[in-house]
Amino acid sequence: MKRIGAHVSASGGVENAPLNAQKIGAKAFALFTKNQRQWKAKPLTEKSINAFKANLIIAGIAPEHVLPHDSYLINLGHPEQEGLDKSRAAFIDEMQRCEQLGLPLLNFHPGSHLKKITEEKSLDRIAESINLALEQTSGVIAVIENTAGQGTNLGHRFEHLAHIIDKVEDKSRVGVCLDTCHTFTAGYDLRSREACDKTFAEFESIVGFQYLRGMHLNDSKPDLGSRVDRHESLGLGKIGMPCFDYIMNDPRFEEIPMVLETIDDTLWPEEIEILYGLVG
Ligand SMILES: [Zn+2]
Ligand SMILES: [Zn+2]
Repeated sequence: MKRIGAHVSASGGVENAPLNAQKIGAKAFALFTKNQRQWKAKPLTEKSINAFKANLIIAGIAPEHVLPHDSYLINLGHPEQEGLDKSRAAFIDEMQRCEQLGLPLLNFHPGSHLKKITEEKSLDRIAESINLALEQTSGVIAVIENTAGQGTNLGHRFEHLAHIIDKVEDKSRVGVCLDTCHTFTAGYDLRSREACDKTFAEFESIVGFQYLRGMHLNDSKPDLGSRVDRHESLGLGKIGMPCFDYIMNDPRFEEIPMVLETIDDTLWPEEIEILYGLVG
């Protein structure tokens, strides 16, 4: 079945996130396991970890339907050694937090070249960063999110994702999360069934659905190919409902967390209901 949810708040402690997801009728969710705008965080307490696991059971959500998101500060393709080392240490900490929570996925933005090294060099660094993190953790899959390609962000072309995956040693522990807003503003059309067919066929041939571990379901404020990352509520942006109808009825999107990051969280219960209503 389809596993729809939203990026819910973990304020007051990670253990609150599953209950926040349950309140909106979610069968999946995303969360930050630490403040996403700070480098350092206190370690998770035993109490918080146990409460998180207990609340997941109460909410009826399986660990594999949770898609934690890492900090926005981390740049695994950083051109400079200091920034790269800091990012790698923070990323390993994020992976370890997932491990402690019993969560098998960690979603992250690949990185940025900052115009100081080539795209290719930066992509190689990202793959090397993933390899280092996988060596030091176990049981957590590094899930690369495609981006809108804003500024010097990499990951807006399917080829970038394929390049990184190709250089990751343990292919069983690397995956991809497609954000519909990012996909669209990166230049891949999703506005009709035909457009979705073409875009996802391209994804299949360049990356492969076997790597798809999650989706972010967002409409887009900016237009196709604008390379600007601005989410919109479903049906109110430039993508429109046919894309979400397509996804909800396509078996390639079964049993992976599909998470709303739409801008109006008061609409999430309704958006989740609308999505499930599209099935069949
Ligand atoms: Zn993201
Ligand atoms: Zn996203």
